[in-house]
Amino acid sequence: MKKKIIVGNWKMNPVTVEEAKKISKTTRGLAQKLNSVKVVICPPFVYIPVVSNTRVESPVSLGTQDIYHELQGAYTGEVSPLMLKDFGVEYVIVGHSEKRSKGQTDEMISKKVQLLLENNMSPILCIGEKERKEDGSHLDFLKEQIKNSLNKVPKKNISKLIIAYEPVWAIGAKEAMAPNDIYEMSIFIKKVLSDLYGHDEAVSTSILYGGSVNFRNAPEIFIKGQIDGLLVGRESVNIAGFTELLKTIDTL
Ligand code: PEP
Repeated sequence: MKKKIIVGNWKMNPVTVEEAKKISKTTRGLAQKLNSVKVVICPPFVYIPVVSNTRVESPVSLGTQDIYHELQGAYTGEVSPLMLKDFGVEYVIVGHSEKRSKGQTDEMISKKVQLLLENNMSPILCIGEKERKEDGSHLDFLKEQIKNSLNKVPKKNISKLIIAYEPVWAIGAKEAMAPNDIYEMSIFIKKVLSDLYGHDEAVSTSILYGGSVNFRNAPEIFIKGQIDGLLVGRESVNIAGFTELLKTIDTL
């Protein structure tokens, strides 16, 4: 059976290496005991060497919150997917709304997705509308965003692709999207993927939900939303909350 995927996006947290070690150690310890959940943590770049261990198999997989859309060269301040891979990073969040709002375009994002897949890494492609419109036009927006973010990504490469549906209005908010709406959106996303790549590829692509998930709402979102996993922001650096969330999802 496919494992449920829980991705922790630490965002720009915590601010000390000691805290980073503590969060990673606790998450690792707990992940060891889980049967049906795959845990991925995405700390800030600077903590990657501290939390990675390429020599031993870890119960927690490593991801980052972005990469640059080139492999190597004169790109001051940027980080290449190859550098991350060398540290054992397997997953990369791409197109997070907090990066899109700072000027990242669909074109850059599709290039990142292509580079990652070509290098046998998993892009966690974030998509999501800024607002839900009565006339349903947010669905057209989402469809275009998916198509453009996957532009030039060939069917033969997409087996490692993960889609994270994160409605922008639900990120960092008080409440998550209603689970029944999440269910509808996951079906819509599968349909768009099916039109692009075919039925089998759409079915096998994991769809995650992200946006104000916490240990309290996670089980209902998971069950009623019928998604393959969760992208968790703030709650992923709250040790008590994330521990509870992982334990509960493992029992579902
Ligand atoms: C995120 O940053 O991807 C996210 C979902 O954040 P939060 O869970 O804090 O809303």
